[in-house]
Amino acid sequence: MSDIKTTILTLRAQLERYNEQYYLSDAPTVPDAEYDRVMRELIALEKAHPEFLNADSPSQKVGGAPVAAFNPIPHAQAMLSLDNVFSLEELKAFEKRVLSRLQHEQPVVYCCEPKLDGLAVSLLYEQGRLVQAATRGDGRVGEGITENVRTIKSIPLTLKGTNWPTRFEVRGEVFMPSAGFLAMNEHARARGEKIFANPRNAAAGSLRQLDSRVTAKRPLAFYCYGVGLVEGAPLADSHFATLARLKSWGLPMSPEVKLMTGISGCEQYHDAILAKREQLPYEIDGVVYKIDSLALQSELGFVARAPRWAIAHKFPAQEELTQLLNVEFQV
Ligand code: NAD
Repeated sequence: MSDIKTTILTLRAQLERYNEQYYLSDAPTVPDAEYDRVMRELIALEKAHPEFLNADSPSQKVGGAPVAAFNPIPHAQAMLSLDNVFSLEELKAFEKRVLSRLQHEQPVVYCCEPKLDGLAVSLLYEQGRLVQAATRGDGRVGEGITENVRTIKSIPLTLKGTNWPTRFEVRGEVFMPSAGFLAMNEHARARGEKIFANPRNAAAGSLRQLDSRVTAKRPLAFYCYGVGLVEGAPLADSHFATLARLKSWGLPMSPEVKLMTGISGCEQYHDAILAKREQLPYEIDGVVYKIDSLALQSELGFVARAPRWAIAHKFPAQEELTQLLNVEFQV
């Protein structure tokens, strides 16, 4: 076997192991920055040697397989991941690709959002009532967590208004606000119990519980950032207007979401959010830019694991490997 192929297989095995620890056990052993570094190394090698690329590579897949203890819930529309960039150069390259695919000369409008550090959920509403909730799982099938989600106060069990579609999926992030996270860990420490490494693991570990009474005691919150299946007519012709409709029905949306024009607008948004990162009442690991026009989104379409019309601009890592390894995890 060639050296390149051996390296690719080693990186894949390493990422599979990290995925299992992160998605299935909610207990990562390396910081996200290290995971991202290994993933980028793998992507670069696969790009340079496409003869070794296959659909089973972690670079082509979303999340982890759903855990059997939860009810499997097939998503009516797949839940994908996001491609990411770490620098302005990479962001400019993203814009160049987008404009060239769209054959656009002028910059387009982006919906800019905080990248909340929690876990993605899909909420199914029928006749205005929450009937099912699932984790992302492997993107096609998620884990049924309906009873747990019902305990999160900011998620409406019944929508306001009357003009919602008969059946539709709301997509968003369940997260643990920093104050609740610190108080919960303080309480656990005082009682000699295990503590969580960070709010992301705390949110995932709290939501992926088999007993919803445990979830009910955890300080979880939710912001919506999109839709999946929508039966009947689309909710609006832009992403931002879609979120505004969700908000009007009582679904919480981050107050930081803003429309900006072109990558220079996105850059301004990035810098403004980065500057207030410490003041935000929840943790974020970057910002997300989404092309606002749904017509342009559908022109761009998707690749295997992510839409072409969105990109996550990640912030510098806050967490050090030593910090992670010094903490015992609670699932
Ligand atoms: P991702 O977290 O980079 O991006 C996709 C996710 O972002 C969505 O599923 C959603 O949950 C979230 N998100 C937050 N705000 C959003 C918004 N406004 N709009 C849309 N989505 C939003 O991708 P991923 O596939 O979930 O996970 C990969 C990342 O997870 C890695 O880059 C790494 O940071 C982390 N990870 C870490 C380990 C580890 O061992 N430390 C293992 C696996 C994954």
